[in-house]
Amino acid sequence: MDILELTIKELIKSKAKTSADLAQIKRKAAKKYKIAFPSNVDLLKAYHKLLKKKRIKKSKKIENLLRTRPIRSLSGIVNISVLTKPYPCPGKCLYCPTEKGIPKSYVSGEPAVERAKRLNYNPYLQAKRRIEMLESESHPTDKIELRIVGGTWSYYPKKYQTWFIKRCFDAGNQKSGKNFEGTQRINEKAKHRIVGLSIETRPDFITEKEIKRLRSLGVTMVELGVQSIYDDVLELNKRGHGVKSTILATKLLKDAGFKVLYQMMPNLPASNLKKDKKMFEEIFENSSFQPDLLKIYPTAIVKNTLLYKWWKAGKYKPYTDNQLINLVKSIKKMVPYYVRIQRITRDIPSKEILAGPAKISNLRQILAEKMVKENWQCKCIRCREVKEKLIQKLKLFRQDYEASGGKEVFLSFEDKNRTKLYSLLRLRIPQYAENGSRYIIPVLRGAAIIREVHTYGQQLPLRREAIPEVSPQHKGLGKKLIKEAEKIAKNEFGLHPVKSVKGCAAKPQFNGVNKIAVISGIGVRNYFRKLGYMLEDTYMVKKI
Ligand code: SF4
Ligand SMILES: [Zn+2]
Repeated sequence: MDILELTIKELIKSKAKTSADLAQIKRKAAKKYKIAFPSNVDLLKAYHKLLKKKRIKKSKKIENLLRTRPIRSLSGIVNISVLTKPYPCPGKCLYCPTEKGIPKSYVSGEPAVERAKRLNYNPYLQAKRRIEMLESESHPTDKIELRIVGGTWSYYPKKYQTWFIKRCFDAGNQKSGKNFEGTQRINEKAKHRIVGLSIETRPDFITEKEIKRLRSLGVTMVELGVQSIYDDVLELNKRGHGVKSTILATKLLKDAGFKVLYQMMPNLPASNLKKDKKMFEEIFENSSFQPDLLKIYPTAIVKNTLLYKWWKAGKYKPYTDNQLINLVKSIKKMVPYYVRIQRITRDIPSKEILAGPAKISNLRQILAEKMVKENWQCKCIRCREVKEKLIQKLKLFRQDYEASGGKEVFLSFEDKNRTKLYSLLRLRIPQYAENGSRYIIPVLRGAAIIREVHTYGQQLPLRREAIPEVSPQHKGLGKKLIKEAEKIAKNEFGLHPVKSVKGCAAKPQFNGVNKIAVISGIGVRNYFRKLGYMLEDTYMVKKI
């Protein structure tokens, strides 16, 4: 019997009930056997081995205990949010709070804000502490999705941006790198690899120059503060840009391979229930929008905003809780299979919300209960992501749709009813790859782009063989999807001759796709190298 199996035996004998009991057993084992603090995943694996050998009886209690607070690593990665320092934003949005010592648009009391404030908004310490905390809860921390939040990222000074991201990578690398590029290179093999990096910004700040800048920083996803797609609503709320900016930003980002998240705000002044519902219908149906992810932030009245004054003066009236619940329910009912509803309502403490969704901050749970009671389903990715086991029969689904002048192919491994999603891939064929029109980033000329590959389920440490009883990870699902994407790109969008003009003696021209480029997070580059991809510019590229 190995050490971990012995630890499981001790765990059963001790009748451990709480996570504190579990931590104590782990500590004892680490000391007694002179090993590193064992992770829950390792112990769970040992538990299943013992079960198989019939050395122990199945115990729901032990299984639950070893999965304490599993949700954080159930998407296959752990998320770490790091807040930027307070800094002005050029926007003057009606509903946006300004508080001294807090980044624009945030409110004191928000958990992420309080954590950052305590650490003086130091990116290194914020990232380091989060990693340590997750480790102490036995979550594998070798695949990290880093989210930079706070204000309008693109408005911060460039020097600050570079320093901020470098320090986050330093925390992942557990040492301080000499320069930005070197630090990111170290992360390719580091203990805590940054597999995705996102920032939040305004649509009108997304320009060709900004796209190149974001790529040079290693950003893979952009959260756009879209809020509304109607110009009259944007204008009354003093957003300072129109819907054209959103449409252009979405196209520029997708054509460079970024994942695009829309932050949307129902219940803004100048909108109403009907208009809000139509707005979501339109972002899901109109090819100019089609976000990959969505955050639904119903307007909340907080102090230090112009909207607060409007509400006080009776110029603005929020929806009732029931109206809001029904609106979000109708959004959930229409969401396409390829969109993930990342969040519903902001993390503002309810005592700070003077009007709006103060009493329904748990809107997601309310709707989850309604789904069961009323027997309907939200098709969004988050609601279909598998939590644990790998079932044997998976089906490959393919869904094509037009988006921002390009073609999107959404591939996924799911159960036959599409209620459980195991793995997904987003492939984009930009217009320029098909017809040779203008492209911004030279390496993307003639490239089909993989914008995302993700396998869900309990995160397994890197270099770890599969544990099918625990997780669908490391079973080659992602690899199979990549092969399928390569096949599609080559067979359906590969090079084709362009019709020559009569009488023209020039050599025949070819358009179409001749390679795949992946907007890979720094920490995933080695995974793609093993599949024959090479780093070119900031993309992992393979000729097909
Ligand atoms: S752009 Fe964002 S941060 Fe700036 S004022 Fe508007 S809501 Fe606030
Ligand atoms: Zn959902």
